[in-house]
Amino acid sequence: MKLEMKRPAVAVTACEHSLDPPDWHAARALAHRMVDDLFAYHESIGHRPVWQPVPDHVREALDQPLPAGPQAAEAVYEEFLDHVLPFGPGNGHPRFWGWVIGTGTVSGMLAEMLAAGMNAIVSGGDHAPLYVERQVVRWCAEMVGYPAGSGLLVSGASMANLVGLTVAREARAGWDVRLRGAHAGPPLAAYGSVEMHSSIEKAIRLLGMGADALRRLPVDAQYRINLDALQAAVRADRVAGLRPICVVGNAGTVNTGAVDDLTALADFCEREGLWFHVDGAFGALAALSPTLRPLVAGMARADSLAFDLHKWMHMPYEIGCVLLRDEAHHRRTFSLAADYLAPQSRGLAGGPVWFSEYGPQLSRSFRALKAWMGIKEHGIEQYRRQVEQNVTQAAYLAELVMRHPALELLAPVPLNVVCFRYRGRPRSRQLPPSADALDALNEELLLRLHESGVAVPSYTRIDGCYALRVAITNHRSRREDLELLVKEVVRLGDVLARAE
Ligand SMILES: *Cc1c(COP(=O)(O)O)cnc(C)c1O
Repeated sequence: MKLEMKRPAVAVTACEHSLDPPDWHAARALAHRMVDDLFAYHESIGHRPVWQPVPDHVREALDQPLPAGPQAAEAVYEEFLDHVLPFGPGNGHPRFWGWVIGTGTVSGMLAEMLAAGMNAIVSGGDHAPLYVERQVVRWCAEMVGYPAGSGLLVSGASMANLVGLTVAREARAGWDVRLRGAHAGPPLAAYGSVEMHSSIEKAIRLLGMGADALRRLPVDAQYRINLDALQAAVRADRVAGLRPICVVGNAGTVNTGAVDDLTALADFCEREGLWFHVDGAFGALAALSPTLRPLVAGMARADSLAFDLHKWMHMPYEIGCVLLRDEAHHRRTFSLAADYLAPQSRGLAGGPVWFSEYGPQLSRSFRALKAWMGIKEHGIEQYRRQVEQNVTQAAYLAELVMRHPALELLAPVPLNVVCFRYRGRPRSRQLPPSADALDALNEELLLRLHESGVAVPSYTRIDGCYALRVAITNHRSRREDLELLVKEVVRLGDVLARAE
């Protein structure tokens, strides 16, 4: 067949353009200013409010029509300074303790710039960024003491859980799910405690198993999975004709930082022939510390392990890691070699296994660079000290709470998460406030605390009670910050209690 070249429909003029700066000199000066401004931002972050509401004029400024023509880069940057930078979520601040969110670092910020500057696509091939990621994955395995056959850097623990559970389904369903889908055999079932993170259920939904297939088992007084209930559930499902495939162990739950008995879960999974996945989003990093490591004993026996580097390792968002014990299962699940992606023996498409054989993404960012640089710059010992420091701080906060007559600790503190509430001053001639009144008071207290800009804890429910929840994955926090939090909670609580 003879191919005919048609002329392009778009007129080609003599004047061709690129997106390079019109004035390199001015662009460089602006870039230097940006770096200086961000250094100042980091240096002074503790002197500003943790968070402030987004004002109306900013909302309006961020709701504009699509710009047709160009604007000066300096003007666009001014808008960033006025409308974006001051109104972030606040997670670089020493008194940010909401959800489980990392602080970020100055060196991470610079590494992100270098990675973006290089703009490498890390799918596969033979280039240095690929070897950087392979190196980082090996370091990740070594850091948490996991015998990984393979691994992948992903956007975060949600994606790491999805990848781990996808391999679990492929490995344990008993048929080729890739070809025949999730319903070509008996209904599949997975297990974990009621304290599991929502990303596990999301993964189960995405895997087409249906959320009902995820059995949520009760926990003990330490918020760890009840093993008898697990045993009973697996047995009952087998009798009912379901196929149990996987148990999810928690290494650090979001609610209270609880760690399941991972050794017992590994034993159980081995006996029952089930895949053992561990969600260690932040808790897996306890393995860095010889004193905390016993808490996560058994984690190394998991078939797959998910954790984050943007939480307790403070790498800039996004970066998480999934590790698999068995490379063959991992690759089998995701491998799909198209003609245009087939590896070559030499040239740019040579090199080791493509990362796209290990996960859903083809085009992938060079997120490994910030990990590679951060781990080299700080050394793993420094990360160990940060983790231990936060655990010690959480114990200190728990102690402050327990010593204060107006406060109540709502859950044990095995790691870095403290759940408590304002309970009120014991007043002899008054009835204690109702459960609903206490919930409402603490909720209002939290909102006022956020609005004051003094501190940002988040919230949850512990045994039905509204709890103020402090999760310390913050390298900038100091004991004084926690003392200030307690003082403010008591002050706001007293104000609200008097108003009732
Ligand atoms: C944060 C978290 C996740 C989800 O991780 P992302 O990085 O937000 O995707 C999963 N499990 C636990 C226990 C977490 O704390």
